[in-house]
Amino acid sequence: MGVATRNWAGNQRCAPASVHEPVSTDEVASVVSAAAAEGRRVKVVGGGHSFTDIAMTDGTLISLDSMDRVIGVGGAEGFDVSVQAGIRLGALNDALAVRGLALPNLGDIDRQSIAGAISTATHGTGAGHGNLATTVVAMTLVVGDGSVRRIDEDTDPELLRVARVGLGALGVVTEVTLRCVPAFNLHAVETIEPLVDVVADFGRVMHGTDHVEFYWMPGARRCQVKRNTRTSAEADPPSRASYVKDKWIGENLAFGAVCRVGRRFPAAAPRIAKLIMTGASERELIDRSDRVFCSPRRVRFLEMEYGVPFDAVPDALGRIAALVESLPFPPLFPIEVRASAGDDIALSTANGRASGWIAIHQYVGAPHEAYFQGVENIMNDYNGRPHWGKLHFQSSATLAHRYLEWDVFQRTRRELDPAGTFANAYTDRVLGPV
Ligand SMILES: Cc1cc2nc3c(=O)[nH]c(=O)nc-3n(C[C@H](O)[C@H](O)[C@H](O)COP(=O)(O)OP(=O)(O)OC[C@H]3O[C@@H](n4cnc5c(N)ncnc54)[C@H](O)[C@@H]3O)c2cc1C
Repeated sequence: MGVATRNWAGNQRCAPASVHEPVSTDEVASVVSAAAAEGRRVKVVGGGHSFTDIAMTDGTLISLDSMDRVIGVGGAEGFDVSVQAGIRLGALNDALAVRGLALPNLGDIDRQSIAGAISTATHGTGAGHGNLATTVVAMTLVVGDGSVRRIDEDTDPELLRVARVGLGALGVVTEVTLRCVPAFNLHAVETIEPLVDVVADFGRVMHGTDHVEFYWMPGARRCQVKRNTRTSAEADPPSRASYVKDKWIGENLAFGAVCRVGRRFPAAAPRIAKLIMTGASERELIDRSDRVFCSPRRVRFLEMEYGVPFDAVPDALGRIAALVESLPFPPLFPIEVRASAGDDIALSTANGRASGWIAIHQYVGAPHEAYFQGVENIMNDYNGRPHWGKLHFQSSATLAHRYLEWDVFQRTRRELDPAGTFANAYTDRVLGPV
């Protein structure tokens, strides 16, 4: 696999001056110190799954695809797993399963690198669960002058707290230790329910079990609710044929075809919305946690996701529903609603507050600007925080006051990367100069 200079959605690309695929922390350190000595900027690309230009550079691009090993398992209870930072989530999940372990929560896909996922505060759903970065108990970071810092809970808990979500702006993460949990299965129950009922009862629905989310196709009256409950019951996965029918044909092939029709004939979108919700099936299964959390995503889309205070979600959704009615071009993709616990990581999108997540999508090639800008305007009223890896139009001026520990992050950045070696156009815009 070549180094990604183009992201998954195809809306970002870059032409780096040089590309490096180091195999060790020492080699990363050499690349960084050489670039820093020449005043060149450095960026690491993980899986290239961010929708923003956060991983793009015209300077030195590093890929850790060759640093993808499990290093070892330790910790008082044997739950702390150290890995090289380039490992993809799918490979990590398999490696954990072999050892009887799992990550406590995951997002919708498993294609990201672990470092890319934690650097943008990638999350799943579960009102009682934090994002992936909250599982990090130690990391190795190559900082701006090329020196190597080993950070853990004992030696520097304060720095670890901040560095867990670094937006790639604090250094190159080369190794990370994750506090995992004993492997578990999930009992998945997917139902189709009236949207008004789900929204009216939002708090109870989202706290109803361990991991709850719902998908709503704008224009439809019903939504698909996914409730995943941790269980010690044996796995009872769908047959291969039914998995292919639901996940590959239903959620990808057929859905892609419907999106293409909608892009060509936008007037048909309201009927398409109903069709998509009608096509969504009710199902129930028990399977290994990561196999329930993550699904294949073949239909390309653009995405924006905002974290807002949990209780603001019903109001915000009502306003989005009204906005959608007035759009010149309809959304062809569902809105996804999730929840997560607050945390104490300076630039985590859930810092200091229990969060509700509203993710909007548009099929690639269909107009998205008016939709995304309109939703962002609504989110601004709730002090919304944009996912760092998903599209938004914010700047450091509009974001600084939304984070209680903005200054703490900036101080850390000045300490670890005083020359701005890890800056790029995205961090210039979103974090400002060092
Ligand atoms: C189909 C799809 C589904 C998604 N689902 C979810 C979801 O369910 N939940 C969610 O929260 N997000 C989701 N995302 C967003 C995705 O998880 C984030 O954008 C994530 O950052 C992508 O990881 P990556 O490895 O591709 O990182 P990249 O996009 O390559 O990079 C992201 C950032 O991490 C930095 N970085 C990467 N590696 C390192 C390193 N070793 N050291 C320092 N910095 C590094 C990069 O420089 C960049 O700043 C989804 C994206 C797609 C395309």
